[in-house]
Amino acid sequence: MNTKKKISLKWRIFASFSIIMLFILVLLWVCQTVFLNSFYKTVKVYESKQAAQTVADSIGEEDIEYLIAAQSNKHDVSIRVLDSNFQSVYTASQRNARSFFNNIPDSELYTFYEKAAENGGTYSEYFEGFAARVSENKNDARKGSSLTSFVVSKVVTDASGNTYTVIVDTDITPVDSVITTLRVILIFVTVITVLAVLVTALVLSAGLTKPIKKISEKAKELATGDYTVEFEPSSIKEIDELSASLNYTKTELGKIDTLQKELVANISHDLRTPLTLIGGYAEVMRDIPGEITDENLQVIIDETNRLSSLVNDVLDISKFSSGAQQMQFETFDLIECIQGVIPRYNKLIEKDNYRILFEHGALQSAPVYADRGRILQVLYNLINNAVSYTGADKTVNIRLIEEGEVYTVHILDSGEGIPEDKMPYIWDRYYKVDKNHRRAQMGSGLGLSIVKQILDAHNASCGVSSTLGEGSDFWFSLAKNNSEA
Ligand code: ADP
Repeated sequence: MNTKKKISLKWRIFASFSIIMLFILVLLWVCQTVFLNSFYKTVKVYESKQAAQTVADSIGEEDIEYLIAAQSNKHDVSIRVLDSNFQSVYTASQRNARSFFNNIPDSELYTFYEKAAENGGTYSEYFEGFAARVSENKNDARKGSSLTSFVVSKVVTDASGNTYTVIVDTDITPVDSVITTLRVILIFVTVITVLAVLVTALVLSAGLTKPIKKISEKAKELATGDYTVEFEPSSIKEIDELSASLNYTKTELGKIDTLQKELVANISHDLRTPLTLIGGYAEVMRDIPGEITDENLQVIIDETNRLSSLVNDVLDISKFSSGAQQMQFETFDLIECIQGVIPRYNKLIEKDNYRILFEHGALQSAPVYADRGRILQVLYNLINNAVSYTGADKTVNIRLIEEGEVYTVHILDSGEGIPEDKMPYIWDRYYKVDKNHRRAQMGSGLGLSIVKQILDAHNASCGVSSTLGEGSDFWFSLAKNNSEA
C-alpha cells in the first residue's frame, strides 16, 4: 500500500501559488532595497552622457540654446557650454540648489576643459560629499545635506575652429523620499498580492475539487450497482472528459449487467423446460403401470440431449469469452466434412420429408487448414437453423464454391427470411428475432454467436443475406490450404 501522505488538491494549489507569490515579492523587495540606488545611478549617468553627446553634436547650430534647454529638461541635468575663454555661453539648470555647478566658482570650470582635453576629448567624474546650497524652495529637505553629482565634460570644435567645452552635471544622490514612497507602495502591493493569491487559490481549488468530489460520490453510487447515475458535464475540459468516460463506462456496465441478468433468466428458463418434462415423464412412468413405453423414454432421452447441448453451448460461449478455448488446426477436406454431416439428418429426411442438398460443382476436394471439430459445429448450427426455419418445400441447399483464395460454404433455406433491421443482432448472444417462433422457443439463441466466435478464431469471414418471404443465405469462407492443394 502506498503510505506516502496524500496532500489535497486545495493545499497543492495554495502551496504552488504561495511559492510563486513569495518568489515575486522577494524579487521586488530585493530590487527595491538593494538595487534601486545602483539602477538610479546607472540610468542617470547614461542620460548625462547622452545629453553631453547631443549638445556636443549640435554646437554651431542655430537653435542650440533651445536644444540645450530641452536636453536639460528631458534628462533632468544642468548644462554649461564654455567658449575658448572659459566663459559660459549657454546655461541650462535643473534643481539649482543641488547642482554641483553651484559649488564650484565659474573661474574653475576651465579645469573640466583641461581634464577632457587630456583625456581625448571626454571626461567624467563623480563628486561626493558636497553640500546643497539653500534652494529657493524652502521645503527642500535636502538642503545642506551631503550630495553626489556626476559631471561629464566634452571638448568640441565648431566649423569656424572655435573650441567649446560642454559640461553636463547630474545629481545622482539617492532620492530618499522616492525610496520611502516606493517602500510604502511595495508593502501595499505585498498585502494586496497575498490577499489576491489567497482568494484565487481558494476559488480555483474549490472550482476544481467540487466537481471531482461530485464525480467521486457518483462513482461510489455506480459501484453499488446503480446504473442510473449521471456524471455531469463540467466547464473544465479534463473533468468533462472524465465525466464522459465514466458515463460511457456506466452505460457499458449497465449493458453487461442487463445481459448477465438476461443470461441467468434465459438459462434458467431454458433449463427448466426440459427438466420439467424429464421430471414429469419419469414420475408418470414410476406411478402409472404400463407407462414405461419406448415413446416416453424417448422423450426423456431427447430432453436430456437438449439439456446437454444447451449446457455445452453455454460452456462454449464462456470458454470463448474467457479466451480459454484452444483451437486444434489440421488439414482436412471440406467436401468430405460436409458430406459427413448430412447423414446425421437422415432420420429427419425420412420422417418429415426434409431435403438437404449439397452441390460442389466440379470441385473434387476442398482442403482447408482449420479446427475440424469446430467447423463441424458451425455446419451443424447453420444447418439446424436452416432446417428449422426453412419454408414449406422443406429444402435446405448447401453450396460450396471456390472464390480466389477461399472456399465459401452457403447454407440456403426457403423460409421467411430475416427482417433487415434485425440482421445485425442475430449474431448476438441470446438474440431471437421472433421469440414466439416454434423453433426459437426450442433454441437458446446462442448458436449463431458460437458460429461467429469459431469463425473469428479462424480469421474467417461470414455473413448472411436474406429476403423476406424468400429465405436466407448464411455463408462462411475458409482459406484454402495451398500447401496441400
Ligand atoms: P437459436 O438457437 O435461437 O436458433 P441462433 O443464434 O442460432 O439461436 O439464431 C438467432 C436468431 O436468428 C434465431 O432466433 C432466429 O430468429 C434467427 N435465425 C437464425 N437462422 C435463421 C434462418 N435460417 N432463417 C431465419 N431466421 C434465422
